[in-house]
This record gives sequence, structure tokens and C-alpha cells, in this order.
Amino acid sequence: MSVIPARLGQSGTPFRFAPRAIGRGRLWLALALAALLGLVLWTGASLAYRHYHAAGFARAETALRLTVNALQADLARHEVVPQLVGDLDMLQRLVADPGDAALRQATNLWLEEENAAIGASDIYVMLPDGETIAASNHRLGPGSFVGKNFSYRPYFSDAMNGGPGRFYGIGTTSGVRGYFFSAPVLGRSGRIAGVVAVKVGVDRIEQSWRGGEHRVVVTDPEGRVFMSSEPSWLYRSLEPPTEERLARTLSTRRYADAALRDLPMDRRQSFGVPVFRVTDPDGKGTHDYIAASETMPKAGWTVHVLLDAANLRQEARMAVGSLVLLLCAAAFGALVLVQRRRQATERIAMQRFARAELERRVEARTADLALVNDRLEREVAERRATERELRAAQASLVQVGKLAALGQMSAALSHEINQPLAAARNYADSAAILIERGDTARARDNILQILSLVDRMSAIGRHLRDAAAKPPSEPGGVALQSLLAETQTIVAARLASSGADLRIDVPAGLPRLRAGPTRLQQVLVNLITNAADAVEGLPERRITLSARQEGGFVAIRVRDHGPGVPPAIAERIFDPFFTTKGMGAGLGLGLSISANIVRDFGGTIACRAAGPGAEFCVRLPVAPTVGSAA
Ligand code: ADP
Repeated sequence: MSVIPARLGQSGTPFRFAPRAIGRGRLWLALALAALLGLVLWTGASLAYRHYHAAGFARAETALRLTVNALQADLARHEVVPQLVGDLDMLQRLVADPGDAALRQATNLWLEEENAAIGASDIYVMLPDGETIAASNHRLGPGSFVGKNFSYRPYFSDAMNGGPGRFYGIGTTSGVRGYFFSAPVLGRSGRIAGVVAVKVGVDRIEQSWRGGEHRVVVTDPEGRVFMSSEPSWLYRSLEPPTEERLARTLSTRRYADAALRDLPMDRRQSFGVPVFRVTDPDGKGTHDYIAASETMPKAGWTVHVLLDAANLRQEARMAVGSLVLLLCAAAFGALVLVQRRRQATERIAMQRFARAELERRVEARTADLALVNDRLEREVAERRATERELRAAQASLVQVGKLAALGQMSAALSHEINQPLAAARNYADSAAILIERGDTARARDNILQILSLVDRMSAIGRHLRDAAAKPPSEPGGVALQSLLAETQTIVAARLASSGADLRIDVPAGLPRLRAGPTRLQQVLVNLITNAADAVEGLPERRITLSARQEGGFVAIRVRDHGPGVPPAIAERIFDPFFTTKGMGAGLGLGLSISANIVRDFGGTIACRAAGPGAEFCVRLPVAPTVGSAA
């Protein structure tokens, strides 16, 4: 069972893959695979066994051909010897006169020489009654063939019957195995007067078979082993023994006095090739030999080449083992592959799930955001509406502030206007008297004073008009210098009443400001009035109005030496209706209106403590085009 980490599914239960049901289908599949594996192994094993048996049989056949050829060549070499010897004049003379001792001796010597020359075992001459009269082994004394009678041997009777004879068996005299070839010796009358026989030893041939990979066995027609690379198998019968066979064997005395036994053996086909299952002579076990056999009809032999099957089976087993290892490796590889594929599939599923989860969350989040966005948009719209209302309220408040200022000013105005009016009246009265006296020069002075007073009064009137006017919607460029005189006039009464001393510090080449003149003046009047309020009754009543260009801005600072703004209320002094002044003394609108006006111009207003006293700084942007009218 595979489990995706729980963190992937925060919203609910962790994602789980369905457990792999090891159902009946899988069981059948496993069984089928096992059966298939078994089949492959069985087929592989039988193929390997068949292959190694076939290869062994091919090797045995090759060895058999070589063995048979060698045997045939060896026998053929000696087959003609009796014929040739029989044709010799000396032999014919001897069989005609067997009593000739000198001739016998001469023949003996000649046969001895000839026997050594052709590498045969023995050459000997017999009379028609079977008695041997000359032999190559004449020197052996009692062991010599001379004087022995071999009439019982088939090769003798064959030669006496006129044909060439051949026979193999153990020499009854020598006890040595050999192959016998014979031929008749014809007398002068043309009759058969004797027999010449050549015996070829087989030990030498047998020797050459030993030590090889395979065993070589030569059997006679009765199935008895006559030659063998395995000495313990000699004279044993490979065929089931029968009386008849035994009688035939005994009649020829082929095996002289050798003990005749059986070699229990079972002929069978194994993996498509003939196999001899031989019971060991001690009877304790069996050995399988792959057998290739061929008959040599002329010699009367059957040659068997036997290859030990155990070695071949060992090789086949090793091949099967290799196959098993290979299959195991392949199965392991397949298992790893399957495992990897499964992991990859699970990983892909996990990724797919994680992606889907992510998309789901993104969608949920997007929906949330859309909701928040809608709410924000609604709030923004509401705020804009509120702001619009606020601005409208502020505009009215500005107007209210102006009216309040006008109200405040009206008292001062009446004082300001009444004073020059009274003075003008005095000057006019004096002028009339002086004219009457003919003092026109002083009368003119008086009239000039009157004119000056009238100018002052008209200035006050202009100020009132400007203060009452609605502010322009867009601020233009304004020269600070041009505002100052009028501003001073407006605040003069307040300054005078508080005993404050206003000092102006504005450099000549100051750039024009991006502001409306009336509203800027209103701001300045507010700040100066507040400063005058602050210093009233104090020993140091100096108020400074300074202006400096700072980059793209002009900073106008109004500084006094009053008590300053306590930090506790510094945050709130720009709020509408915030005032520390007593009832009727202040509305708490001055700084609030001033801040709105400055903000409208794109500037800032701030207050800071300045040693003893307060400093209000109004920063306004420089007007974009120099010379544009306010
Ligand atoms: P008002 O003058 O009617 O009180 P303002 O908005 O002009 O309203 O001022 C608000 C408050 O700011 C004042 O009540 C005063 O406490 C404080 N303030 C303004 N200017 C100064 C100053 N120059 N020194 C000390 N306090 C000041």
C-alpha cells in the first residue's frame, strides 16, 4: 500500500492509493509464471542433455571411424602375407619333402627373418594333417609352434579348403591374442600340400587405445570382448550368454583357456543416442557410455567406441545451471524493472494528485481573492465617495473658516478703517484750515496723508474681497514676495494686539510656487496668527517667517519662541476642531484647513519643536513654468 504524505491533502484525509489486492488473478499469474519457468527449465535441460549427448556421439563416431580405419589398415597389411609366402618355391619344396631337415632349418630361418621384417607375431607352415613343420618362433623350444598341430583352427580348415583363411583368438601355445591369416601351399601336382599362417598380435593396437577420452571395445560375432582398452572387460560377453553361443566359442578354442564371463550391460537410447549402461565388474554400480558401433564384416568384428556419459551430463548440468543463473538474472532484472515502473507510476500519480491539489487550492484562493477584491473595490468606491464628501465638506469648512476669519477680522477692520477715517478726517479738517490760512504746502501734505490713508483702506477692502473669493480649482504659479505685504497688513492688528514682532527673511530670487495666492495667504495668516497667539504675554515675542529653495521645493518656515507644541498633542493638531484654546478663542480649524490647502498644492506641512517654541514648515513645489500667472 502506498500513502502520499498527509501534507499534500491538508483539506481532508491523506491521499491513499487503493491497496493492491493479491487476488486470485495474481495467484494464477504466479502459478502460470512458475509453470512457464519450469517448462523453460525442463526444455532447456532436455535440449542441453540432447545437445551434449549428440556432440558426444559425434565425437565417438569420429573416434570410431579412425579406430576402424586403423584396424583395417593393420589387418590389410598382413592379409596378403600367407599367399605370398605360400607361393615361394622353398615352401612348396618343404611341404613336398617335410623330412628334409636342412630345408626345414632354412625355412625356419627365413620365416624368422620375414616375421621380424613385417612386424607380425608369428609365421608358420603346416602339413595337411595340421602338424607344424616350420615356424618363425622355432627357437622357442617347447614354446615353439614347430611340432604343434593346429588342425582344429578354422583358418587351417579354410586354407585346406582352398581359400584364404582368417581367424582371431588366443594362441593355444603362446597364450597371446592374435589375428590369424592363412593360405594353402600347393604341391607340384597342384594339390594342397600344406598351409601357411601369419599371426598378427593385437596388444600393440590395444596399447594405442589406452589413455584416450573414450574406451574402445572389439567384440566377436558372439558378443564377446576380444580387444579392449579396459583390460578387465576382456573375454566378457556383452550379449546375454546362451549355450549355443558358448558351444560355438568353445569349439574353435578361440579363447584357449581364458575364463569366459559376462559383462552385465543394458543397451538403451538416451537423448536420441545409443547408450550402454554397463554394470561395474564389482557389481556395485553402473556406468553409462555413449556408444558408437561399427561392424568389420571381413574381420568378423564389431568395434565399439564408448564415451563416458557422466562427463557429458556434467557439462549439460553446468549448461542448465548457467541457464538457471541466466533466468534468475533475467527474472531479477525484470523484477527490478517492474518495481521501477511501479514506482514511476506511483510517482506520476503522486505528482498528478499534487498538481490537482495545487490547482484546487489555487482555484479556491483565486475565488477568495476575487471576493476580497470585490470587497476592496466596494470599499475603495465607498472611500472615494466619502473622500468626495469630505472634500466638499472641507471646501465648505474652508469657506466657513474664511467667514470666521472675516468675522475676526471685522473687529480689527472696523478699528483699522475707523482709525484712518478719523485720521483722514483730522487731516481734511487741518487741510481746510491750512488752505484758509493760505498754507497750501502743508495743506498738500495733509492731502497726501489723506490719500495714503485712503490707499491703505482700499488695500484692506481688496484683502476682504480676496479672502471671500472661492479658491480656483487649479493652483498656478505665485511669487511669495508679492503676498507678504498684504499678509502683513492682514495680521497687523493681531500682531499689534499680542505685541508680537514679525520678521521676514525671504531671499529675492526665490522661484514662483505652485499654489493659489489667496489660499497660500490664508495658510500664512493662520500660521502667523497661531504664532502670535503662542507668544502673547511672553517676554520673547519674535516671530520669523523665512523661505528657502530646497531642490524642487520651497520651504516656508514660521517660527516662534512660545511654549511649543507638546509631543502628546503633536499628532492631533492638524485634526479638524482640535484646539487647546479656550471657548470663543479658537475653532480648531486653522491647521486642518491649512494642511488641506497645502496638500491640494502638492506640498506638505509639518511641525517640529525648535528649542523654545514651535516651527511650522510648509513645503511647496516650485511652479513648472516660470512667469505663469497665479
Ligand atoms: P485654533 O488656533 O483655533 O486652536 P488651529 O488649528 O489653528 O486652531 O490650532 C490648533 C492647535 O494647535 C492650537 O489650539 C494650539 O494648541 C496648537 N498650535 C498651533 N500653532 C501653535 C504654535 N505656534 N505654538 C503652540 N501651539 C500651537
